[in-house]
Amino acid sequence: MKLYAVMGETMEHTLSPQIHTRILQALDMVPNYCVLEIARKNLPDVIRSAWVLGFSGMNVTIPYKEEIMPYLDEISQEAQAVGAVNTIHFHEGKTIGHNTDYFGFARMLQRAGMDPAGKPAVVYGAGGAAKALVACLRDSGAAEILVVSRNVEKLDALRWLFPSIKTAQPQQMPNHFGGLFVNATPVGMYPNTQSCVISQNQMKQFEMVADIVYNPFETQLVKQARDLGIPAVSGLYMLVEQAVKAQEIYQQINIDAQIGETIYHELCQRFL
Ligand code: NAP
Repeated sequence: MKLYAVMGETMEHTLSPQIHTRILQALDMVPNYCVLEIARKNLPDVIRSAWVLGFSGMNVTIPYKEEIMPYLDEISQEAQAVGAVNTIHFHEGKTIGHNTDYFGFARMLQRAGMDPAGKPAVVYGAGGAAKALVACLRDSGAAEILVVSRNVEKLDALRWLFPSIKTAQPQQMPNHFGGLFVNATPVGMYPNTQSCVISQNQMKQFEMVADIVYNPFETQLVKQARDLGIPAVSGLYMLVEQAVKAQEIYQQINIDAQIGETIYHELCQRFL
């Protein structure tokens, strides 16, 4: 029987067990998926313990997506590009790290009909998720990528990882950039649901707006963009699709798109 988990430091609000359980049920598999709260001092022992316990796959969340990498045997191409792992596949005696946020984001944009190819894109935020977004936008052919953050050290680190990007602090945000705007900060997330990273005036310059925050279902950023008539999407579909991609890796199959769609609609009901 296959065993899966999500591991992080504090796991009170994770939706991973719910989403993975639904995917496994849809695949007619036994949904053995548990939540592991791991103290930082125990991180070096996690992989060995997982082998002993017989895990087949493990999702990784804040704050261990980067710290876990030295303990793995192989890192996939996209996880190397992103510099972070959120999915570990225990396969034929090896641990292989992947980054499925990259794919989840790509599928979210695709479903929303937002094609970044040939267009400029602003990524607001410079944390772990921002790296996956930048890698995905670069690989999707975005014409120019500007990362905006209040954190200068993180901007420097991103420029080192992605030499072709431009960076700016919030007060240097341009007024006529156009293309896609993506929020990759927790601003607007429950319980601070009235917050928004940019003003409606700044928003007017963009053709498309995406928020990777998924709770609330429709963030203030998305509401304000829609009020201006700008197509906008929030992060719930990305959350579902990064989990679907993780199961595609664990099971080594392509999963019918309808499964993600059904789970997404079930979660929408929960959030509405
Ligand atoms: P992270 O590594 O902690 O990075 C957060 C980034 O947001 C940092 O650049 C941080 O700047 C910035 N930030 C935080 N609070 C801010 C504020 N009040 N004003 C301006 N900037 C602020 O987190 P992450 O893993 O990148 O995740 C970011 C968000 O994306 C979270 O809400 C997470 O739940 C969501 N997410 C969604 C999905 C999905 O599937 N939909 C996947 C991954 C992440 P400082 O360094 O200066 O604090």
